Amino acid sequence: MTTFAELGLAPDILRALDEMGYSTPTPIQEQVIPLALQGGDILGAAQTGTGKTAAFALPLIQRLLPFANHGTSPAKHPIRALILTPTRELAIQVEESVRAYTRHVPLRSLVVYGGVNINTQIPVLKAGVEILVATPGRLLDHVQNKTLMLNQVNTLVLDEADRMLDMGFMPDLRRIVALLPAQRVNMMFSATFPEEIRKLADSILNSPTFIEVARNATAVTVTQVIHPVHHERKRQLLAHLIKSRDLRQVLVFTGTKLGCNRLANELNKSAIHADAIHGDKTQQERIKALDAFKAGTIRVLVATDVAARGIDIEALPFVVNYDLPHNAEDYVHRIGRTGRAGARGEAISLVSESETRYLKDIEKLIGSTLSPQIVPGFEPGAADVPVYQSRASRHPGHNGGQPAERQERSAAPRGKPVPRDSLFDAPYVPRDVVPVEDTPAPTRRPPRKQVAALFRSPVKPDSSGQ
Ligand code: AMP
Repeated sequence: MTTFAELGLAPDILRALDEMGYSTPTPIQEQVIPLALQGGDILGAAQTGTGKTAAFALPLIQRLLPFANHGTSPAKHPIRALILTPTRELAIQVEESVRAYTRHVPLRSLVVYGGVNINTQIPVLKAGVEILVATPGRLLDHVQNKTLMLNQVNTLVLDEADRMLDMGFMPDLRRIVALLPAQRVNMMFSATFPEEIRKLADSILNSPTFIEVARNATAVTVTQVIHPVHHERKRQLLAHLIKSRDLRQVLVFTGTKLGCNRLANELNKSAIHADAIHGDKTQQERIKALDAFKAGTIRVLVATDVAARGIDIEALPFVVNYDLPHNAEDYVHRIGRTGRAGARGEAISLVSESETRYLKDIEKLIGSTLSPQIVPGFEPGAADVPVYQSRASRHPGHNGGQPAERQERSAAPRGKPVPRDSLFDAPYVPRDVVPVEDTPAPTRRPPRKQVAALFRSPVKPDSSGQ
């Protein structure tokens, strides 16, 4: 097994890694570090969770060591490495990592991002920093204000380039690249490689080495579960899963900001401590929510894709796709939040009938079929079955395995809506019915590739007694 020392890293960097508990390099680090130390351009196909931040940051830091310790004059500390990320959250986390790796090395780093007062960033820039982590918009604000210079940059890193493309940063990126010295080392990382990313790579990188780690594939340590369910019952199912399985540190993705707020509110109403992060929240609110989530004081963090980008929580155990992403590549990004750096994780997707087409796209992209598991009491054909499982259904033979009330409900028109405000209210509990939450979370596994079929007719409640 290769060690960090064998990759050629300097003792002061090795000491920091040792203190951080990094014992062995991850596959992407093993491949990128030696190449980048020699100053070669790199195109990395790697998703978050593979250790890609250290893969680009460690060699970058080592190559700046000759510039360290040059005294206190700001002129001796020009920006030499520029790391661009699509979001503020990712920028913050990358800079936190850089700071940790440079703890025994006299190099300075700073993160600049929009949404906060630009004036607080200026004095630090004026004092001089060698490593700047930035989001493209704020970086250009500083360029325009002449509060930073990019003419000494010798290393450029583009992190999560596909997300920068999605967020419309291409024109900003091109403007930034035009401001950099032509002689420099370039590293670009992306989880996915649509045509436009390939073009961007062609225009920015110089004969790059292509390094691929689990490209377009979900991390092997992530268990992927899908629960087909009627869309009106997703909130109840989520609350049920969280309570019955005692899930903690659950990152839940929703498709819209509105849905994000609403879901967090409703979870709180049902005594599950939750907060929401999305584009309409201030930076302070996002950081506060993220810190509370990391510390475990909130149990569920509901997020949109943009806000969750780059969230890095050590060994995040659960990711829930409350809404399936319309873009299959987002699925890969989302579940990359869990099962990180070798830790196990579980990605749970709640799939309604209208989302089966997105599921097909996801399965095509990841190259495997995901097995649907029905949670009893949440059969996908029925919108208005209460969140309870009858004793009869768990003990076949009694009333044909189905109580009269359940038979009535199953026969009701499919998709009949449940009043929104009653979603988390305790429903009427007939005498022979016990809460599902009292039972271990049982699941029934239908044959593979049949998710769409599950929605065609109301599924009869499980009478297997499981
Ligand atoms: P990244 O893919 O860069 O977001 O890294 C994912 C997580 O893995 C972060 O929490 C890192 O601190 C951690 N990590 C990265 N490399 C290693 C390593 N070689 N050993 C242990 N943890 C690591």
